This record gives sequence, structure tokens and C-alpha cells, in this order.
Amino acid sequence: MQFRDLKAQYAALKTEIDAAMQQVAGDGNFISGAQVAELEEALAEYVGVKHCVTCGNGTDALTMALMSWEIGPGDAVFVPDFTFFASGEVVSFEGATPIFVDVEADTFNLDPVRLEEAVLAVKEEGKLTPRAVVAVDLFGLPADYRSIRAVARKYGLLLLEDGAQGFGGSLDGRRACSFGDISTTSFFPAKPLGCYGDGGAVFTDDEATADYLRSIRVHGKGSFKYDNVRIGMNSRLDTLQAAILLPKLRAFREYELEAVNRAAGWYTERLADVVKTPVVPEGFGSSWAQYTITLESREQRDGIQAALKEQGIPTMVYYPKPMHAQTAFAGLPPVSCPVSDRLCGCVLSLPMHPYLGEGNVEFVCEALRKLL
Ligand SMILES: *Cc1c(COP(=O)(O)O)cnc(C)c1O
Repeated sequence: MQFRDLKAQYAALKTEIDAAMQQVAGDGNFISGAQVAELEEALAEYVGVKHCVTCGNGTDALTMALMSWEIGPGDAVFVPDFTFFASGEVVSFEGATPIFVDVEADTFNLDPVRLEEAVLAVKEEGKLTPRAVVAVDLFGLPADYRSIRAVARKYGLLLLEDGAQGFGGSLDGRRACSFGDISTTSFFPAKPLGCYGDGGAVFTDDEATADYLRSIRVHGKGSFKYDNVRIGMNSRLDTLQAAILLPKLRAFREYELEAVNRAAGWYTERLADVVKTPVVPEGFGSSWAQYTITLESREQRDGIQAALKEQGIPTMVYYPKPMHAQTAFAGLPPVSCPVSDRLCGCVLSLPMHPYLGEGNVEFVCEALRKLL
């Protein structure tokens, strides 16, 4: 059994993907080919925002958003403590200070109450200027934007949605990657919508921001490539990746998103009475980047993971270490994030992908139920 079966997906889409790749090789249009613009249009339409600017990866997408807001030294940016490293790394990379905020035990996402406390504490201390919030749609579930947006408005903070895992999720009828002033996603192969290498995208309704992003992804270009009006980066999505993403986006829309939700339902049906299963609150929809159960202790979690491995069932621990405990952030002022600390010790992500059959889910759940 595969944790995320990318080969099964390729087998299902082989004809279209092979043709798309050959088309690019034949055209020789490897950078900024027509497929890139076509994909950007399709992504913007699907997400429901005016502009999509693709780029090299999800980390660059976050960096480009912060650059467009000129976030830098002296600025505080609030980031959930329980997430992938890049969500906070980009803040430090821009010279600003990430302030890690605890998450909700049920949804694994940024806790709006703790967020407001953290903003007030930074204001009170008076050393840094609160500028922005990075809200992460962890494991495919949008963060609580109803409350987070209210906090951001109240304190004049910019809202950046890190939708690297959230693509395809929804809240109150709107799709993920439309909730931030700027939103980003990643097409790393194992994400809900993945390509065959690195890729990412930035979404915004603001035309001036979109123009700026299109400039900085190509060395801060002005009216043409060799007119450089600002310091930028080299972060484009390859034509080959865009060509692969087009049929994958079609499959995602037509049946994959539905298939992961069906698989999540099979898990929850069979596990909810023996272990804490993921919570999808009213009005929210998940794209199930991960299906993550919460066990009672580190000993229990580690024991179960080892026992499942012996039976050929792959699982992962996302994430074993909270952000505030990462060595790279050792210089930051200390924060208290007890929920995040606890989750790192007891979460376990089970095999999850659109091609996971009910038989496989049954097998995993039978094994888990015996162990529990
Ligand atoms: C994967 C991921 C990123 C980074 O995306 P890359 O394309 O790997 O650079 C950022 N944030 C979160 C939450 C992620 O899961």
C-alpha cells in the first residue's frame, strides 16, 4: 500500500499526460509556453479570484506575497505553530519576525483567540510592528477565516492564506486560495493538486499586486525582460509542469476531490468510535491533503505507527516538531503553544489519496481497531 499513490494517478491519466509532455518537447517552448497562461486562467476561474500568477514552488509563492507588501525587518508576522517549516521560514527570510501562535486541537488550524492575544502582546511590547497573518489550511481544511479575517481587520493586518495543502477546500461556498488578501498554493507532487516536480501559484483579486508578482517572478522585469525595474527572483512554473497540471486539474475537479472525501468518510465511519478522527466544522470542506488521527500519547502513537509498518501500512507524522522548537528559530522570543506541543507528540496521518479503494481503508482500519 502507498501512503499517497502517485503512480495510480499517472496510470489513470497516462494518455493525456504523455501527450501533454510530448507536446511541450515538440514545441520546445519550455519557459512561459502557452500552457502556463492557460493554466493560470483555469486556476483563477476554479478558485474564484481575478488573478493567478504561477511560480517555481509554494515557498517562493509565500515569499513573493511578503515582498509585494514590503514586509521586512521590524515587522511581526503571525504564523501558526503547527505547520510545515516554510510557512514561517519565509517570514525570517524577508528579515521580519515570525510570531508563532497556537492552534485549535480539533481542526489543527490557527486559533483566532490566541491570534488576537499574540497581536495585543506584540503591540503592548512595542518593539515590532504587527503587519500580517499567515493562515495555513492545514491537511486540506481551510483555516477559520470567519474569525481570522475579523481579527486581521480589527488590527489592520494583511492576511496571507498559505493554501499549499488547502487547494480544493472550501468555506461558506467559497474555495480555498481565495480567502487571503493574497493566497498561495504549492504543486509539490504530494499536495492535493501536484505536478511532476516543484511548482506553485499566487492568487489575488488586486490587479496592481498581480502585476508586481508577474514582475518579480522574472527578475523584476519592467516593460520587457531586459528592462529591470526592481530586484526580483527567478521563479517561473515550467511549461512542462503547466502542461501536466492541466489534465490533472480536470481530474481533480471531475472526480479526485470527491474521491478523497469519500475515502475520508470510509475512515471516519470505521474509526470515530475508537480514536479522535479529523473534524470538519459546519460550512467547511476539506481537500484531505492528509487524514490525521490524534492518539492519546507519544508512546501510543509511536507504538501504533511501528505496528502498522510491520503490516505494510505506511503512515506519517505531520509534524513531529512545533515551529517554535525548530533550531532555526532559536533566536526568537519564547512563545507558549501547548496544543501544538501536544499534537506533535500524538498525531498520525494515514494513507490518503483519490485512488485509495474502500478495501485498503478497511484493511488499515481493521489493523488500527485491533491495536486500539
Ligand atoms: C508544502 C508546503 C509549503 C511549501 O511548498 P513548496 O512547494 O514545497 O515550496 C508551504 N506551506 C505549507 C503548509 C506546505 O505544506
